[in-house]
Amino acid sequence: MAKRYDFLVIGGGSGGIAAAKRAASYGARTAVIESGHIGGTCVNVGCVPKKVMWNTSTIAEVLHDAKDYGFDITVQGFSWPTIKKARDGYVQRLNDIYHRGLDEATIDEITGTATFSDPHTVSVNGTEFTAPHILIATGSKPDVPNVPGAELGITSDGFFELETQPRRVAIAGAGYIAVEFAGLLNALGSQVTMLLRKHTFLRQFDKTLRGTLMEQMIASGVNILTNVRLTHLKKGGDGSISVVMSDHSSIDSVDCFIWAIGRSPNTAKLHLDRAAVSTKTGGDVIVDGYQNTDVEGIYALGDVAGKWMLTPVAIAAGRKLADRLFGGQADAKLDYENIPTVIFSHPPLGTIGMTEDEAYNEYGINAVRIYQARFTNMFHAVTKRKPTTVVKLVTVGENEKVVGCHIIGAQADEMIQGVAIAIKMGATKSDFDRTVAIHPTSAEELVLMR
Ligand code: FAD
Ligand code: NDP
Repeated sequence: MAKRYDFLVIGGGSGGIAAAKRAASYGARTAVIESGHIGGTCVNVGCVPKKVMWNTSTIAEVLHDAKDYGFDITVQGFSWPTIKKARDGYVQRLNDIYHRGLDEATIDEITGTATFSDPHTVSVNGTEFTAPHILIATGSKPDVPNVPGAELGITSDGFFELETQPRRVAIAGAGYIAVEFAGLLNALGSQVTMLLRKHTFLRQFDKTLRGTLMEQMIASGVNILTNVRLTHLKKGGDGSISVVMSDHSSIDSVDCFIWAIGRSPNTAKLHLDRAAVSTKTGGDVIVDGYQNTDVEGIYALGDVAGKWMLTPVAIAAGRKLADRLFGGQADAKLDYENIPTVIFSHPPLGTIGMTEDEAYNEYGINAVRIYQARFTNMFHAVTKRKPTTVVKLVTVGENEKVVGCHIIGAQADEMIQGVAIAIKMGATKSDFDRTVAIHPTSAEELVLMR
């Protein structure tokens, strides 16, 4: 007979663990089924190890600038294996914390791959489990295109396994990962070429952000090839990789090729057909605003549902779902409007709400007013390196409601969270103006623009 729970969570990543812990806090008998490493993508091969590498590359930049501040330092080198070991140790500690956290919350951990047997039953290694509420939080996996030699490249998962620093790197893709990896590898001294199939990267972001980032990445030495049609990868005699384009040009002697072209939902092993759960073309599980699939008692959230693939989104959706199912909050659901996000590029960018173009399309050109400041962060007043900071507010209507904020520059990653609160509360430009500036900072420009 199948073992019975109140709540079965498939996937021990950001969304699954958050939902399970909140449900258990309400007294629901809960189990989490995980086939890989506890903590999921974010902890093991995503946000966490990526941020460690971004911090590492930020230190490289500061070391470079230090001599302009009068420090007589000679950098003797950089040891990739040292930071890799420290990073792996940190991830391991987090894994342990997650295991302990589930144990303390009296959540059962089931190890293995979950497969639906029917809408209320899930099988793991031949053992059956049943619950009136089953959550699919199985995340996503990196895409690799079907081109000859594709297997010579690695994905973000493989990047975190690299034992030594790649010296000559090519990256295909135009989103978060391509931009973040290109920036951090370049700052650490690798020679990096980005291959974009269109004219720019980050096409869905505000044009000021992507334009400014593109200029600065090129200025800092990243080779960015636009409108490129990659046809295949091939191995050279020395073991290096050649990247071949449709115009027969090639980039040779590449020692690491990275696919960063998007991610697809992890649904293949679930046998969703046995539960009759519907998916979109591409595999995203279809859900409504409450994370309900079209089958009663089965829910989905996080990357597998394909909307805003970000850790805090998966966590927030998971908690809301548990509040609704077990916490007596019948209307609890995540508001997917105005979600802030950061790209840990060099320099970083933070953004929330409508881009300038989206606001024009939605409200018409006459209703939109843009405020923008472009300047050099005071940190760079005395350095030779002079990256640009840009702060932009998108406002609409007579009362100039702020519907978007876009920042690129040092500490943009830390600035945007505070702005997100203001925008979520419906702040207008005059609310920003009434706020006293903090001097001398870059953030003060947010309240000083005229
Ligand atoms: P996951 O965290 O991926 O968890 C899903 C879990 O389900 C996995 O552990 C998987 O092993 C398990 N699983 C899959 N199928 C089964 C099955 N059949 N049975 C049992 N278990 C199964 N987001 C940010 O907000 N900030 C960042 O800085 C950031 N950086 C990123 C950097 C990289 C390189 C990547 C790849 C992603 C990054 N993300 C970042 C995105 C973030 O990691 C994901 O949005 C988040 O982890 C999604 O959470 P989830 O719960 O939906 O899935
Ligand atoms: P993204 O969806 O961000 O970007 C991938 C882009 O690559 C596409 O938009 C497309 O851009 C381009 N592309 C698609 N197919 C191809 C192809 N065959 N050849 C060349 N280029 C192609 O995907 P990522 O893999 O970068 O990241 C996945 C998700 O993970 C992100 O969307 C984000 O939600 C999350 N993430 C979040 C981070 C953060 O919060 N800081 C960091 C890393 C990931 P175009 O159409 O313009 O060519």
